[in-house]
Amino acid sequence: MKIAVINDDKIVTADADNLSLSGRKGAVVKVLGCGLCGSDIVKFVHKISKNGTVLGHEIVAEIVEINSDTKFKTGDVIVTSHHIPCGECKYCKHGNVSMCEHFKSTNIYPGGFSEFVYLSEEHLQNVAHLKPENLTAIEASFYEPLGCCVRAVKRANLKTGDTALVIGLGSIGILMAQALKAYGINAVGCDLIPERVELLKSYGLEAYKELPQGFEADGIFMTSGADKAIDTAIKYVRSGGKILVFSSTPKNFGYVNNEIYYRELTVMGSYSPAPVDLQDSLEMLKSGKVKVSGLSTVYKLEDIEQAFEDTMSNKIMKAYILISSEQ
Ligand SMILES: [Zn+2]
Ligand SMILES: [Zn+2]
Repeated sequence: MKIAVINDDKIVTADADNLSLSGRKGAVVKVLGCGLCGSDIVKFVHKISKNGTVLGHEIVAEIVEINSDTKFKTGDVIVTSHHIPCGECKYCKHGNVSMCEHFKSTNIYPGGFSEFVYLSEEHLQNVAHLKPENLTAIEASFYEPLGCCVRAVKRANLKTGDTALVIGLGSIGILMAQALKAYGINAVGCDLIPERVELLKSYGLEAYKELPQGFEADGIFMTSGADKAIDTAIKYVRSGGKILVFSSTPKNFGYVNNEIYYRELTVMGSYSPAPVDLQDSLEMLKSGKVKVSGLSTVYKLEDIEQAFEDTMSNKIMKAYILISSEQ
């Protein structure tokens, strides 16, 4: 089977042995396509993942072989995420499921940018769902990224009618703003790229390149890791408000102690979704509360390097790697 792997400064396609269950529980799925996540870019650019790693986790796939106690069967088209919390540890019990050791150690094999993937029984039981019939594979591939946004919105725990500012209107910012709106929050977006401001407006939300005088938000959602984004957050958060950190920064630098103290700010992170957030995400996509049309640019597996480049240079909003010809 064909896979895409990291090879020093490149992502290249390679051949790998075909997968089969060979008596194991779980499923082998044929990947229809896989979204390219910001975290894949970070792992590649900052050399967090070794050579030979298959990145990608936002898959839509068809079951070709299965041995499971679930109701899934051969031919089902599903969405899944890659990590599963144990539900028992101190992190899980406190709602920090993405900090759970088991969560961090579970994954899909070998990774989403592969013609076939092995999913464990745990994946099938906890994070896999049938692709809703009214969604295309590309639309359904937003299941996991939107799940991340849903979790961030829940963690911030703003009140209905509060105002939230989403800083950075890449695909995640566009999803975040819509998720906020779905939860009754007045979401406003900002970005330095005019086309991205226009894009959020086309989804019926308020967006600015420069925010109006006197603007302030109860919550700030940081989907951009640019240095200046932190200054923007501090400037526009109301005293007593919250800053939700949703992006890494190139360097380790941070928020100003005295701003946090004197203005009683809450700075919090949100990382990766819990199974319940993923369920909510799928519901939002299915009901059309969150729209994703026009966000994706499609690349073939052999053009994956181009997809990485175009994403990094902000040429596109979101890459979808088309892996099977059947969608
Ligand atoms: Zn992702
Ligand atoms: Zn746990």
